[in-house]
Amino acid sequence: MTSYDQIMKLALERGFYFPSCEIYPDAPAGFWEYGPIGVNMKNKFIALWRRELIRRDSMIEIDGSQIMSRSVFEASGHLLNFSDPLLECKNCNSIFRADRYISEKIGRAVPEGTSEIAMNSMVAENHIRCQNCKGEFKSVTRFNMMFKIGIGSSHDEAYLRPETCQTIFVDFSRVFKTMRGKLPLGIAQIGKSFRNEIAPRQSLLRLREFYQAEIEVFCNPDRLNEMPKFDEVRNTRLNLYDDDYHRDITANDCLDHGLLPNKLVAYYLALLTEFYGKTGIDMKRTRFRRLTDDEKAFYSLVAFDFEVETSIGWLELVACNYRADYDLKGHSSTSNHNLEVIEPTNQTKVLPHVFELSMGIDRSLYTILEHCYHEDFRHDDRVVLRLNPYLAPITFGVLPLMSKTIMVEKSRAIHSLLKKDFDSVYDESGSIGRRYRRLEEIGVPFAITIDQQTLVDDTVTVRYRDTMEQERISTGELKKFLEDKSAVV
Ligand SMILES: [Zn+2]
Repeated sequence: MTSYDQIMKLALERGFYFPSCEIYPDAPAGFWEYGPIGVNMKNKFIALWRRELIRRDSMIEIDGSQIMSRSVFEASGHLLNFSDPLLECKNCNSIFRADRYISEKIGRAVPEGTSEIAMNSMVAENHIRCQNCKGEFKSVTRFNMMFKIGIGSSHDEAYLRPETCQTIFVDFSRVFKTMRGKLPLGIAQIGKSFRNEIAPRQSLLRLREFYQAEIEVFCNPDRLNEMPKFDEVRNTRLNLYDDDYHRDITANDCLDHGLLPNKLVAYYLALLTEFYGKTGIDMKRTRFRRLTDDEKAFYSLVAFDFEVETSIGWLELVACNYRADYDLKGHSSTSNHNLEVIEPTNQTKVLPHVFELSMGIDRSLYTILEHCYHEDFRHDDRVVLRLNPYLAPITFGVLPLMSKTIMVEKSRAIHSLLKKDFDSVYDESGSIGRRYRRLEEIGVPFAITIDQQTLVDDTVTVRYRDTMEQERISTGELKKFLEDKSAVV
């Protein structure tokens, strides 16, 4: 199985991602940059998300500010509740995140919602001490994870948003009206969120600044089973996990067996499954895990995490929360704006409920890399990143077989013809074998080689990354070939 370290090495050496401010010693942890190859892959992942979720479901998308007023987070509950428990050593002042530290020491899970009192008794009963100096701990305290900032010369209090969805709630009324919305309506946003994690770690997996793709589905709570479009996905197969495993069970059977609460939730979990099915993640190693009351976020009534098995354990990629009217109610009362909408069928007013699909983009990209990474021991131990062509950071490479001037010129001409329509590279240095390896490692699905015969009949060879098979194609057909082969299927 591919290891975390193999992906890290690939990411650093081939321009997927690397630490922020790395040339300075005071670079803070938990901030990473996407390099050129990573940016391309991220853009393609987002294009797939737009295609398979936003456009497919006729959702609408907004792009809001990353800095939001204090009132927003008063209404949302983040000022009060968005905090992590801390353990601080009385002796050396080392700081640890309490639930994780206790869990490591006692060898069992400590759910996120565990109270400070309960954690204090766990520390006492298990004689838990500081791992750095064996000192005693102070009582567990809470640390708010939002980044506070000051606006203008008077430094008015504001915050970097800890989740993108608050913009969607705050903008809901205007967006719903101007776009003549009807319930249920999905409003989506992609953007950065910021959390002052106590212990950021594992590169893209726990960041302080990260990309979210959030979808908030506004719905009428009395009509959660009126979903004609559910029929599109009734036979889509899901893996559910509560106390038991329910593998490979259709969305319809999930409802019949009472594993999912209503058609709206079943429909969106199925949609999400179909989306991830196209990313190259091995769907046999995925599950929707139903969260227990202890684990759920403070605003959530029913919650499923979409998790994927990786070399470092099960990783949460999407949090699916039924947030009910928690958000709109809070913003209504704090802002004194009525956020109800008219239900057209009977002209009554309703304060919509919200079902949320909150996706971590960075984690999704890491998982795709890990699941698509292969070492091909039959062929020189070559490393092949078997990305679906539509997610490949680079679609093709153009390689002159020899460095003869006439062949190089022809290669450059062919590359110029195609490079505006695709992400591509041109590479004339090193043996042809080495050049293939470089392309395979970053997942380039097609290598176009210009050889002696090209000069005679204007054909090239296209070499497939996974099978290493070659095909002869006339240069006039290359564009259509690449479009067809890199289309989403
Ligand atoms: Zn200590």
